[in-house]
Amino acid sequence: MSKYSLPEDRLQTTDEKGNRVYIHPHDVKGPWKNLRTKVYWFLILLYLVLPWIYIGGKQVILLDLPAREFYIFGKTFYGHDGPFLIFLLLGFLFFFAFVTSVWGRVWCGFACPQTVFIDTIYRFIERKIEGVGPKRDKLERAPWNLEKIVKRFSKWLLYTIVSMHIVHSGIGYFVGTHKLLYITMQSPTTNLYLFVLMLTITAIILFDFGWFREQFCIIACPYGRFQSLVMDENSLIISYDKKRGEPRKRTKGIDPNDLGDCVNCNRCVNVCPTGIDIREGLQMECIACTMCIDACDDIMKKVKKPTGLIRYTTETQIDGKKKKYSPRVYLYGALFIATIFTLMFSLSKRQELKVQVIREGKSPYQYLVTEKKVINRFSLRMRYMNPKKETLSLHLLADNVELIAPEFPLEIENENINSNIFLKFPKSILKNGKKVIQMVIKEDRKDRLIKDVTLLGPIE
Ligand code: SF4
Ligand code: SF4
Repeated sequence: MSKYSLPEDRLQTTDEKGNRVYIHPHDVKGPWKNLRTKVYWFLILLYLVLPWIYIGGKQVILLDLPAREFYIFGKTFYGHDGPFLIFLLLGFLFFFAFVTSVWGRVWCGFACPQTVFIDTIYRFIERKIEGVGPKRDKLERAPWNLEKIVKRFSKWLLYTIVSMHIVHSGIGYFVGTHKLLYITMQSPTTNLYLFVLMLTITAIILFDFGWFREQFCIIACPYGRFQSLVMDENSLIISYDKKRGEPRKRTKGIDPNDLGDCVNCNRCVNVCPTGIDIREGLQMECIACTMCIDACDDIMKKVKKPTGLIRYTTETQIDGKKKKYSPRVYLYGALFIATIFTLMFSLSKRQELKVQVIREGKSPYQYLVTEKKVINRFSLRMRYMNPKKETLSLHLLADNVELIAPEFPLEIENENINSNIFLKFPKSILKNGKKVIQMVIKEDRKDRLIKDVTLLGPIE
């Protein structure tokens, strides 16, 4: 096997026995790298800052699993809001199917946390401590000595600090950042469960971002498999232009004048974080990170050839055909829009105030002989799902019924409240010992909540 080709029977990241071969991609510069760096830092800052943003005293995203309460941009959802969650998940599914069928593995290259954190932070640490790709390769093969021990120890120490920070920010989305800050000031034994959880996730992240890396994309990522199902010949891919590049330099028996543009420098292979040779065609391992585009464009400029030997394109364009999206793509787009529309519509119709009127007391009514009036006692069980304070007033749509509600008007704010009320009325308004009246619990121009209440009393 020449040093200009990769083994055909196995991945470059495994040896003949199937053991892991750790690859150290070389650094690359170029417009795609610049764009990705900007996107990556934006996403990292968003992830770190978002849980610290509070609107109206509430964390902008808080997923309180034990309480089954989820605050998302000022809206509160509860465990029983499952249908909204289903629409949301379906929306994500159709969105990703649409994006992947048009733009290919853009998620892997530009937004996957695995790519974002490894490329921006973990490789930066590695580069600062162990040097650029070829130096790291050399260190990998070098015997264990003091220098290697110090470098490896420093690298893993920094990895651990960074991983802990990432995990703490993640936990902040579930516990609340203010509460988490308080918890971190206490002894770990005070919140042992959370502490063990934090250590476990840190260990998983260290393993994945620090060591496992491209192996996760190649053998474990379910989204990678999903994408290969959704993509077709019209999806955007990163591809080597075989017609233009071949026969590449150093191909035996070819007249130098008949050579293609590929100078067989192997730069595209050396920068690839999954260790593949894009010149062998579209491969499952390609995460569309664009490293090879920048690397090859740089070489093309040096040898004074047009750039774009490796570029974003589609299989149909490579074959010289016109790009035409299949009906599947339009279907994904339509399903995404329909799902989001349904979700928005359901949310706009969602009642933020839920009230149950429960009859209370040992007997269904009390008869006041002196006043010749009947009293019914009820409990109002109210659940209000909005962090904005609301004042509830109570009144009846019935004559001759007196409402005794000492706690009303009542201020309520994203909570559950029980309140006792009494209804007093002359027994003459009843027919066969009962009468149904209406009670207005919340009234404003947009939203009016009315409940039927059955009055009970003695049968004449
Ligand atoms: S082949 Fe190119 S785009 Fe694909 S993973 Fe390797 S460097 Fe990234
Ligand atoms: S970087 Fe470009 S020129 Fe160099 S081997 Fe890859 S495809 Fe050929």
